[in-house]
Amino acid sequence: MSGVTGRAMVNFGAGFPWEMREYPVPDPEPGAIVAKITMASICGTDVHLYQGDFGGRPPAKQKPSIMGHEFVGRVHKLGAGVSTDTTGRPLAEGDRVVWSPSMLCGRCPACLKGVLPCPNRKAHSGTTSDEWPHFKGAFAEYYYLSPGQWVYKVPDNVPDAAAVYVDCAAGTVAYALSKVCFPMGSWGVIQGAGGLGLCAAPVMKDLGARVIMVDKVAERLAIATSFGADHTIDSTEYPTPESRIARVKELTGGRGAEVVMEVVAAAPEVVPEGIQMLDVGGTYLTVGLVGPYKVELSMMPFIDRGIRLIGSASFDASTMAQVLDLMARTMDRYPWASLISHTFPLEDAEKAIQEAIAGRVVRAALVME
Ligand SMILES: [Zn+2]
Ligand SMILES: [Zn+2]
Repeated sequence: MSGVTGRAMVNFGAGFPWEMREYPVPDPEPGAIVAKITMASICGTDVHLYQGDFGGRPPAKQKPSIMGHEFVGRVHKLGAGVSTDTTGRPLAEGDRVVWSPSMLCGRCPACLKGVLPCPNRKAHSGTTSDEWPHFKGAFAEYYYLSPGQWVYKVPDNVPDAAAVYVDCAAGTVAYALSKVCFPMGSWGVIQGAGGLGLCAAPVMKDLGARVIMVDKVAERLAIATSFGADHTIDSTEYPTPESRIARVKELTGGRGAEVVMEVVAAAPEVVPEGIQMLDVGGTYLTVGLVGPYKVELSMMPFIDRGIRLIGSASFDASTMAQVLDLMARTMDRYPWASLISHTFPLEDAEKAIQEAIAGRVVRAALVME
């Protein structure tokens, strides 16, 4: 042990109050890295876990664990044999880094086919924070990167408030968009201008598309423009699906969009509408509707207009490096850091989640130092 201790906000399952605990900071085993977290942001998944949306609330208090998977920090200690990040850049103690909390098992049918997400990816996240190596979640002062976890040096001009959500918000939409192709002069439509949607706009622009964003909140659409949207459609001004479809057709010279991507949290009704916004041969990309949502669809657009439907979750190792590079190249063009609209100290982690639940933040983050 290093003799150093670190604080962690631990939870015991949905419905139980969180508690601050102090754990010894472990020494890294060969191939591992101990990072000092400087900022951790709150993702929609954390909100779902907090509310017990995945599989209901546990009947009894669970063993303590640390929530959160969006973080940025500095290398505190490198384990023996670690001299570079995942992309081969030299890595030293004190360097600013981001990393992925999940690891692919590399041997399941999904990994062997290159399909994400790997069903075994949580196997490396540890069991309870009371056991070594203690620090396996974001809402804490340290994090233990097990050997093989992807880690990336953060470019100097990318501030914590941007790097913090490379995993997972920006990585998730960038990976989804890596599955499509934008021919010259084509258009992309993003349904939903929340955190995921705002990340998607600069990615689509970088892939060469012109971007239309649809939302019903005027303030979000104003931010969408600063994140690269060429046009926005305010659903309060275009209140029916027919009027929004007609507006997309009008903006795209009558053709429709090459790609329509939904990044809405709980509005499955956007899907049939989005499919009708597509150009012939276009692709509908579903990313945000995680949960028991059902949609009724006509099969005819897929049969007689060559429309494709693709879903996506998670991301691969190269996506995180690409997103960091995009941020570094476009830091002057897009207000990447403004996505983190509110910050809180670690001890106010529950308050930060409650603000996210209440919809009073674009994205909330905990600042550790
Ligand atoms: Zn997430
Ligand atoms: Zn696997």
